Amino acid sequence: MSKIKIAISSCLLGNKVRFDGGHKQSKYCLNVLSDWFEYTPVCPEMGIGLPTPRPPIHLVRVGDDIRVKKVDDHSLDVTDELRDYAHKTMPRIQDACGYIVIRNSPSCGMERVKVYHENGNPAGESYRGVYIDEIMKLHPNLPVEEEGRLQDPKLRENFITRVFAYNEWKESVVNEPSMKKLIEFHSRYKYLVMAHSYQAYKELGRLVANTEQREITELLQEYEDTLMRILKKIASSKSHTNVLYHILGYLKRDLTSAAKQELVKVIEQYRKGLVTLVVPVTLINHYLTQFGSDYIKQQAYLDPHPLELGLRNYL
Ligand code: SF4
Repeated sequence: MSKIKIAISSCLLGNKVRFDGGHKQSKYCLNVLSDWFEYTPVCPEMGIGLPTPRPPIHLVRVGDDIRVKKVDDHSLDVTDELRDYAHKTMPRIQDACGYIVIRNSPSCGMERVKVYHENGNPAGESYRGVYIDEIMKLHPNLPVEEEGRLQDPKLRENFITRVFAYNEWKESVVNEPSMKKLIEFHSRYKYLVMAHSYQAYKELGRLVANTEQREITELLQEYEDTLMRILKKIASSKSHTNVLYHILGYLKRDLTSAAKQELVKVIEQYRKGLVTLVVPVTLINHYLTQFGSDYIKQQAYLDPHPLELGLRNYL
């Protein structure tokens, strides 16, 4: 499999593009995720022609608007340049299936970037960096996450699940759009979607049934919008347990009573928080090497991302 294209704040790759002439190298991005991800580094502040080192900029509340201005001299306003640069960057990151940004940046920060008053005092509110804000408006389905938040195992697993799902969606459906491809994708992703939202699982099922005979382009867009919105929701251990029991249903007929009891025991241990999700999923995958239909064996839920990343190893 070729590496998945990911856009990234350039300073996270160790490039010395920050206002202070330094970088914010991320070992996790560089040493771990790089086995699966191919990065496109973007530094919007350098992109609009600011030098490095450079005077720092910050977010400023001006009436109803949030502007990006030089900290010591509010007459320098680079908001429009940064938003324009997002438009210019779009063709370069068109193939990206995710974007990793850095926190607290008035250009790149995805959330909780401090906003100041015109007089320089904190405004007691936060916003997101204006460049990434524009990118997220232009490309609302693109998974975006802050590198700092990737330290949280739930957020990390959620982001990487979205990236792999989006990559497969683009490769298998968007590149060759057809009803057949949509049905195949949906069949494979049913249980992954169910883990994030039972309601969305039903909703997507109705969409794919397409009883209203809607046009394929419109249908695919709605499917993608719903899928990517739903996958953002963190799957709870309750919903994972529900999915595990559904999958167990496909094995019941073939498993010995002792094997069934063992599997139920492990699922219950997961439900009670005694073992991590990888434990019941590994046992299920073990049984699926011998039993079960092709339909259940092909479920993305069973291997949504590389095992080597150890993403389902948290309680
Ligand atoms: S603008 Fe973004 S990529 Fe450039 S230094 Fe700041 S945080 Fe890093």
